[in-house]
Amino acid sequence: MKTIIEPFRIKSVEPINFNTREERIYLLGKADYNPFLIHSEDVLIDLLTDSGTSAMSSAQWAGIMRGDESYAGSPSYFRFRDAVQAITGMPDVIPTHQGRASEKILFSILGGKGKYFISNTLFDTTRANIEFSGAEGIDLLCEEGKHPSVPAPFKGNMDVPALRKFITDHGAENIPLVIITVTNNSGGGQPVSMANIKAVRKVCSEFCIPLFIDACRFAENSWFIKLREEGYAHKTPREIAKELFSYADGCTMSAKKDAFANIGGFLAMRDENLALKCRNLLVITEGFPTYGGLAGRDLEAIAIGLEEVLEESYLQYRIRSIEYLTNKLIDAGVPVMQPAGGHAVYLDARAFLPHIPVDQYPGQVLVGALYVEGGVRGVEIGSLMFGKYDEDHKLIPATLELVRLAIPRRVYTQSHIDYVAEVIIEVFNKRDTYSGLRIIEESAFLRHFTVKMVPVM
Ligand SMILES: *Cc1c(COP(=O)(O)O)cnc(C)c1O
Repeated sequence: MKTIIEPFRIKSVEPINFNTREERIYLLGKADYNPFLIHSEDVLIDLLTDSGTSAMSSAQWAGIMRGDESYAGSPSYFRFRDAVQAITGMPDVIPTHQGRASEKILFSILGGKGKYFISNTLFDTTRANIEFSGAEGIDLLCEEGKHPSVPAPFKGNMDVPALRKFITDHGAENIPLVIITVTNNSGGGQPVSMANIKAVRKVCSEFCIPLFIDACRFAENSWFIKLREEGYAHKTPREIAKELFSYADGCTMSAKKDAFANIGGFLAMRDENLALKCRNLLVITEGFPTYGGLAGRDLEAIAIGLEEVLEESYLQYRIRSIEYLTNKLIDAGVPVMQPAGGHAVYLDARAFLPHIPVDQYPGQVLVGALYVEGGVRGVEIGSLMFGKYDEDHKLIPATLELVRLAIPRRVYTQSHIDYVAEVIIEVFNKRDTYSGLRIIEESAFLRHFTVKMVPVM
């Protein structure tokens, strides 16, 4: 088989600023060892997130020019609505400025004290919005998903027996929604099988609990189903995506992921009454229902992006490029999440830096090392992001200590990816030389964005 090439040519380029290792040591210290506080101009290869960092196509840029900025009833809204309806089959489509705005609206209406929202794994903003409403978020990930180095085809699946047990123990009336995140971002970008979605749907129907999809990476998940699940090899990604959404009552979406947009999101659902409540909140917090939190031009870019993301040549290249980097690291003995996920490579920081205790945040140490050695910026997905404290202010660690290297869509070429592999392997070869970090300043919600740290002496 021949090399799978990038299914695009480059028409416009952005220069990368080069800096030295010494400069990066200084810059990391100045950023209090928090990669979110490093200026992006000081980063060579930015793998902080795949969110809003996609390269838009020439068709999307043309759509930007076509965008109609009418306050109400813009044709751009209707093209956006039609694109979302065609994939999700959901009649009510509510534009928001990004995924978390959809979450804020949804959980303000359905959340509150004493309520539980159950998921395979909630993403950090989703969990934060649930907790901010006073409710509790519950992750019920399948057993395979908890073992980073053990390959399995659908490690994003929900633990269905645990779901049934939780509902029975806590009462269906206290569970406003079950949410399946596809792919499972916090759990390693691992896909969820159609069989699992169907099984969750069945339990939800039995207890009359609506099922929502956190659909940020619905196209990547659909491609994995095509590759790995029996009976889907001959189906198109669009057919698979439509089936996936057919089992859900609604979805939240960040268009900054699988819609190649730099900003945007939406809520879509089948329940008219819930949609009415959402729109009432939308006009207060986002905007009029035909633009939400977006400009008409953004609605066009999203509508076009939703078409492009389901193209087979794109999805084949996309998933292969993640697998390519993952395999290079596996060959070098670097502990990574296996198999490769859909949008990122996840390093297992606990296995990578076994001499650093979890309360000294090995993931964050690894993030700093990758920046210093090669100007590569990743993000910790571990106890800094998800850790809690007990009554004695002792850290309750997260299940996994991961470092995520998220690959922006259509942005980097194969030589960029080769360089990233070289940097990771260099850090791995001198892993014994790194020491831990401690927190000197933090906030109550989403602390990883603003945390300040210093090396443990
Ligand atoms: C990015 C993301 C969100 C939040 O979307 P934003 O557009 O960043 O607000 C929610 N869930 C998942 C799984 C995500 O990846």
